Order: sequence, then C-alpha cells, then structure tokens
Amino acid sequence: MDILGETAKELYRALDNKEIQTGLKRSISNLSISVDRVLNVWPYLEELASKVREIKEETLNNLDYYIDLTMRNVKRSHGHPYFARNREEALKILDEIIGDDSPLLIVKAKSMVTEEVGIREHLISLGHSVYETDLGELLIQISRDKPMHAIAPAIHIPKEGAIELLRRLGLNVREGMNIEEIVMEVRSFLRRKFVDADIGISGANVVAADTGSIILISNEGNIRNTTSLPPVHIAVTGVEKIMPTLSDAFMQALVQAGYAGLYPPTYLSIIAGPSSTADIEYHRVYGVHGPKEFHMILYDGGRLSAIKDPFLSEQLLCIRCGRCQAECPVWGLTGNIWGGNVYGGPMGIVWTAIVENISLASALSLFCLVCGRCMEVCPMKIDMPHIIRNLKSRLNL
Ligand code: SF4
Repeated sequence: MDILGETAKELYRALDNKEIQTGLKRSISNLSISVDRVLNVWPYLEELASKVREIKEETLNNLDYYIDLTMRNVKRSHGHPYFARNREEALKILDEIIGDDSPLLIVKAKSMVTEEVGIREHLISLGHSVYETDLGELLIQISRDKPMHAIAPAIHIPKEGAIELLRRLGLNVREGMNIEEIVMEVRSFLRRKFVDADIGISGANVVAADTGSIILISNEGNIRNTTSLPPVHIAVTGVEKIMPTLSDAFMQALVQAGYAGLYPPTYLSIIAGPSSTADIEYHRVYGVHGPKEFHMILYDGGRLSAIKDPFLSEQLLCIRCGRCQAECPVWGLTGNIWGGNVYGGPMGIVWTAIVENISLASALSLFCLVCGRCMEVCPMKIDMPHIIRNLKSRLNL
C-alpha cells in the first residue's frame, strides 16, 4: 500500500482505539490548563521566549562555530566530546565508550534524540539491561510503543493500561490501586537500579557553548539520579540545542518548562564535566560521589542540512515543549500516531522531514487542517502551518 494509504489506515486505527482516545482526552485539557495558568502567574516567560528566539536564530546561523566551541569547552571541563553525523556514527561512539564489559546495567533519562538514534534497543540487543527512569518513558519501553508527546510520552495510556504494563515488568501493582500507590511501587523498583547502574544516559534540554555544560529539567527527580549515581554519564543531544552562553541556556530551560506547563521546574541540573574534588592539598581528583567520566555526543542526524532548507530551517528553533501538540485538533484525536517513528503532531511532522524522510512527512502533512493554532501557542512562534503547506507541495503521488 502507498505511504498515504498507510498513514490514513494508521490514523483510523488510532480513532478506533478506546485506550488512546481515553488517555488523550484525560490528559490534553489538563496540559493546556497548566500552561495557561503558568503564563498567567509568570507572564515574563513570554518575554523570555522572544529573546530565546532571537538568540537561537543567531546561533543557528553560526552553528559550526558553536559546535566547535562546545566541544572545546566540554574538553576544558574534563569531559569527552564527540560529534556524530548519523545514527551509525552515534552508536559506534557509544559502543566505544561502553566497551565490551557485557552485560551492564544502564539507566536512562527520557530523551527524544536517543529515540531517534535507537539507543535503548541497540544496547538491549547487545545484552545490556536498560531501564528508562522517567515513568512515562518506562511505560513506553514496556509497551514497545513510541512516545506520544515530547514531554509526556505516555499521555495516551490511562491508569488501567499503566497497571497492566507495570505488572509485565514484575511490579506489585493491582487493579484498584490509586495513582499515588502505583508511583510508590515504581519508586522502589527503580531505586535499586539507580544505585547499581554502571552507566547513566541522558539527553540535554539545552547546551551552553561557552562552558560546555548541559542543562536538564526534571520533576520526577530521576534525571539527578541517572546523571549522578552511576560512575559514567553519557549525554546525547541534537546540535540545535546549543545556546551561546550558560545564561542563554538557562533562559531557554525556563521557557521550555513554562510552556510545558511544569513551572517552576522542580529540578534544574547544570552539568559540566565529571564530579571532582580539590579538598586535599588543592590537588584536583576527578570522580568523587558523582560520575568519574562525562561524555557528550553532539548529534547531527539531518539538522545541519535542514539549516540550508528555506522552510525546514525554522523548525530548528523548536525547544520541544510540546505546546503545539496539545493545541492541534488532529493530534488531539491521534496523538503521535500522526507522525513519524519518533516525532508527531505539528512540530513532529516537520521534525520527521528533518530526521527521517521528506516523503513520509509530506504524506503526514496532508492531514493538517492548516488552522494555525499550533503557531499561535508556540513560544518560538514557528510558522508550522507555512512549513507544513510547503511539505504538502513536496508530495509525489
Ligand atoms: S495548522 Fe495543522 S498542525 Fe497546526 S494545529 Fe492546525 S491542524 Fe494541527
């Protein structure tokens, strides 16, 4: 069947799936209400958002320079920087860092870039035990599904579905338990994994070129455990996440948290290199209570060629708050089923064109109503309807 027919079939399947429909309905209105409340209480976030857009435009125009600066500063803070052009290169770098000490226990923080690269599946295929530590992403791992939303990956899974999935992992959860009780079971299950893990893998919400640091936002507290307890921390992130300075990066992190409706973020971690001490004779030793090694893989995966595309380039300003998804009438019915392998909804159609392929993105774009609601709520004011209209014109039927 052709790509368009396949897409339509998938979308109809989502409409008929009661679990997806229930999960989306329960979560979407909560998400929009949270963002409106945040912007009402902290209106300065809107002003910060327009500053972030300006800085990002300038950064993307000089991205090669900022990639190089980031790599130099990661090295300066005793980290190990790498640049990967594609999935194969990223996995090769990862294999070299991890070595042959199989099998290892690996804990992972949620990261869409690691989904793009297929890191979890790759590590499991090598015999390692890998656990997602974000609760939503853990549910996605067990269900072998794809994340349904950039910030809330399991937004489509209602409580009953979550219980069923967690039981498959061996957790002592039962029908009739309330959500608080379920979360406590997950907490005690993952606690041991954090302590015993050999490696922690994370993404980065944003990267600061001037210091080689990454910023990670978390509410669950899992990111701190993932990046602090194992002896090795590997961060994998897209090159478009780079901001020139730490204060620019901080500003972007605040905007992302605000437009995801999770403000103030409970935890904001800034990580620059491995843990260290100079408490004895001012002699610097790397590797104390936190990781002994910090590795950062900067991932291209189609982004650098998208910069040259007059339409797709604007999407690189996206800070992945997922606000557009909750506002889109099509996504509200289908979630990320209306999308590529990783990204879905308004921003996801364009990201699919950047990181997967134009034909798939063009077929997906035909289902957009071009109503413009996504652009209205986007903190970066990305003209997604305009880009999607262009993708429609690229479809070869
Ligand atoms: S313009 Fe298209 S992608 Fe944007 S909200 Fe409307 S239907 Fe969704």
